Amino acid sequence: MENISLAKIVALAKRRGFIYPGSELYGGVANTYDYGPVGAELLRNIKNLWWEAFVHRREDIVGLEASLISHQEIWKASGHVGGFADALVDCRNCKLRMRADHLLEDFIETLQAELRENPPKTEKISSEELLMALKTAKVEGWSEEKMDEFINVFKIGCPNCSENKGDKWTAVRKFNLLFPVHMGIVEGDQSLAYLRGETAQGMFVNFKNVLESNRVKLPFGIAQLGKSFRNEITPGNSVFRTLEFEQGEIEFFFDPEESDWEELYETWKKDMWEFVTKTIGIKDENLRWRTHSDEERSFYSKRTEDLEYRFPFGFKELWGLAYRTDYDLSQHEKGASKDLKVVDSQTGKKVLPHVIEPAVGINRIFLMALSDAYVEEEGRTVLKLSPKIAPFKAAVFPLLANKPELMQKAREIYKDLSQNYYINFDARGNIGKRYLAQDEIGTPYCITVDFDTLEDDAVTVRDRDTMEQQRIKISELRNFLAQKLV
Ligand SMILES: [Zn+2]
Repeated sequence: MENISLAKIVALAKRRGFIYPGSELYGGVANTYDYGPVGAELLRNIKNLWWEAFVHRREDIVGLEASLISHQEIWKASGHVGGFADALVDCRNCKLRMRADHLLEDFIETLQAELRENPPKTEKISSEELLMALKTAKVEGWSEEKMDEFINVFKIGCPNCSENKGDKWTAVRKFNLLFPVHMGIVEGDQSLAYLRGETAQGMFVNFKNVLESNRVKLPFGIAQLGKSFRNEITPGNSVFRTLEFEQGEIEFFFDPEESDWEELYETWKKDMWEFVTKTIGIKDENLRWRTHSDEERSFYSKRTEDLEYRFPFGFKELWGLAYRTDYDLSQHEKGASKDLKVVDSQTGKKVLPHVIEPAVGINRIFLMALSDAYVEEEGRTVLKLSPKIAPFKAAVFPLLANKPELMQKAREIYKDLSQNYYINFDARGNIGKRYLAQDEIGTPYCITVDFDTLEDDAVTVRDRDTMEQQRIKISELRNFLAQKLV
């Protein structure tokens, strides 16, 4: 897949109805996307599998579905109102707006060797910091002033125009990512709420509710799947980073005196890896773990690692795993002036639980699945999706649409299999066209009813990946699919 460009994947996604640009009919809204018929299926399959793996098959995790509109105080206590911001710069020549950290990091990645060995002198950035940035191409946590200084001393030009050779940028400034909403007709601060910037806060603010209304005890997790909203300046890359996106987050609560956090952490790493490789069917060689450096990690986190996938635009974060200590619950204890500690009914011991948080972007799993499955081979493009996530599990065709006997038989098979699987029925065009279409949406099996069927009650089943065909009795079809689609 090394040579597959994002542009090809995006073109197929549009052509076959996986993803469309948002509000396209009216000229579009940047960085929003709509999921078409097969895209909606793929997305739903991913979400269902995630929920099954981490809620239904776990005794120690329960689900939650919190409101998207939430109290402004939640986001003050969580630190998002104060600190959840991107640093931006604008090119005064071509009006390009960019995240300042991305401008710096992209520049560092393309930095010539001599600049790296002999960086210009600067007083505002310490030499250790400069060295670290040049080595890791990361400037997370840098102040606006430091970023300004870096742009000036390295004379970073605009990636969009040749006029700005590093001297036509506005000053770097912070821009809060939360989407404010104003409720009702009351003007001003009273009516202010926020669309949630992450699903995690829903678990923290409902921690006591869940604890008191369910038979759970530490250690246990609360999981949530749902939309979050961030008013980000994004570099594109299709659905990798968008203004609204779907998260799958788990807050796993434990007593640090009773559970060994490092052991829990390692177990989570295994579970995440297994979900991505076994359930979603991603190739191991396209995955890696990356540990956050001390500078990059939030001050309250003792360890953060990202499971990264090799997207067509490089290794990028898919799934973060952070040990967040008791930071979040203690922030809400202060913010709401409420006691959120757990009391052990036997010993009377009180503890404010610590938390390990696996947080994944569902839309990133979606893009990863398309990227990993995309194959171009002799005369065809095929999505070799795991059957578990494929939009359709099989397609049923009558060899010819204008033969009522074939049509009727195909309809019968379609109706029968549809009781258990999502099946596509296609009678348009010729058989070659139908195979082409099914290959491009990743349908694992194509079942064709032909004239022999009327004699022998068997059909031709074609395998998507090998293109091999075999005759299977209609009465055996269900067994066949049940075995293949486990
Ligand atoms: Zn420019």
